[in-house]
Amino acid sequence: MIEQRDQKVSSLPRGVRDRQPLLWLNPDYAPTVGCDFGPDPALAETRYARCAALLAQVFPELAASGGQLSSPLTRLARFPTALDRRGKPPNWFLKRDDSLPVAGSVKARGGFHEVLSFVEAIAGDAGLLRDGTDRSVLAGPEARTLLDRYTLSVGSTGNLGLAIGQIGAGLGLRCVVHMSADAKEWKKQRLRDRGIEVVEHTGDYAAAVAAGRAAAAADPHAHFVDDEQSLALFLGYATAARELQSQLLSAGRVVDARHPLFVYLPCGVGGAPGGILHGLKRLYGAHVHGFFAEPVAAPCMLVQLAAGCDQPVSVHAVGLDNRTEADGLAVAQASMLVSRLMASELAGVFTVADDSLFRDAWLLEDTEHIYVEPSAAAGLRGPMWLLGSPEGLAWLQRHHLEHAVERATHVIWSTGGSLVPEAVRAQFRARGRRD
Ligand SMILES: *Cc1c(COP(=O)(O)O)cnc(C)c1O
Repeated sequence: MIEQRDQKVSSLPRGVRDRQPLLWLNPDYAPTVGCDFGPDPALAETRYARCAALLAQVFPELAASGGQLSSPLTRLARFPTALDRRGKPPNWFLKRDDSLPVAGSVKARGGFHEVLSFVEAIAGDAGLLRDGTDRSVLAGPEARTLLDRYTLSVGSTGNLGLAIGQIGAGLGLRCVVHMSADAKEWKKQRLRDRGIEVVEHTGDYAAAVAAGRAAAAADPHAHFVDDEQSLALFLGYATAARELQSQLLSAGRVVDARHPLFVYLPCGVGGAPGGILHGLKRLYGAHVHGFFAEPVAAPCMLVQLAAGCDQPVSVHAVGLDNRTEADGLAVAQASMLVSRLMASELAGVFTVADDSLFRDAWLLEDTEHIYVEPSAAAGLRGPMWLLGSPEGLAWLQRHHLEHAVERATHVIWSTGGSLVPEAVRAQFRARGRRD
């Protein structure tokens, strides 16, 4: 088994080990796998709907939308041609999860859902909830007294901790956030300013997760938010699919056999992009094709899928060091839960060097006045890989999409940025301009 796995990893494109930006196409991609396959996001959609009034009441940022969590879909008018003159502006969209309320990143989708499902479970056990009970009671004094006894624990490179900490604290839970060495200082500070406990670790993401898991295991009143294995997080992310579907409809973008949809999603452990793609596959089946973006130093999903999903394989096994400025993507080992689903649902992965993250983020801000954090800029070159590289063009031909591509819609997922303080933005900008 081990031998076979090493053989497979050694068949990785050479460029992966050499940290070359490249497009890897998944040989096991099965475009038609999707509808009625795998976990169903319907449960998360109904949970979000029944908890909307509660969220509107507890989080001032969600009052205006009536407790509905959503982000705009923005047409990119100037960026595509600024990036490459072959870019066709009318077809490129940016899904603005960088502006999701409370968390300022895509983590809001998984995080709110996981925390709500936990809170509903404890309140249900305590007899405070029945099927039809208005979830607003969870903001009331009786529930607050109950929730005050519970702790949420999470390990993170930054944004998941930021999301769980702020959401959990808002709902009255104690929160302990274990941060990896990659976590940016301002993210830790923001949590501490809100009275949320931050434990700093010198190790990477996996070490922070392990510490959080161990701490929670010792405490019967603690719940560990497991970014590597949580179905609740995954399904929370997957609810983004219906939101995008209605936005594409409003924008007049058809998705069918003649009008495919391509999505480009930055990938860390895999939960966010995997959940979103899975949700889209359930809605659109073979008409949607998903590509993940990963740092050249941390292409954990690429390495895992190339090795097969029998056993975990980390980027260290192929000589990479997981060092990147894209803190949200600095993960050496992909989630096995997600890898196994992506083995057939994911079309491919492209890798991105740190320098181009800064450059592209700057170009996006310069042309569209949209600020995103470096991790969130990872998807921006996706359409160019597909439309402008020999591998991408060959893939389109193989899937008989070379003509449909003219009519296609490209959605680049922007995953974080709105909470980044101005002083930090200025540093990122300077680097983007200089590079
Ligand atoms: C977490 C994160 C991602 C990737 O999500 P995973 O679930 O770790 O794959 C992408 N971008 C940003 C900004 C993130 O914080």
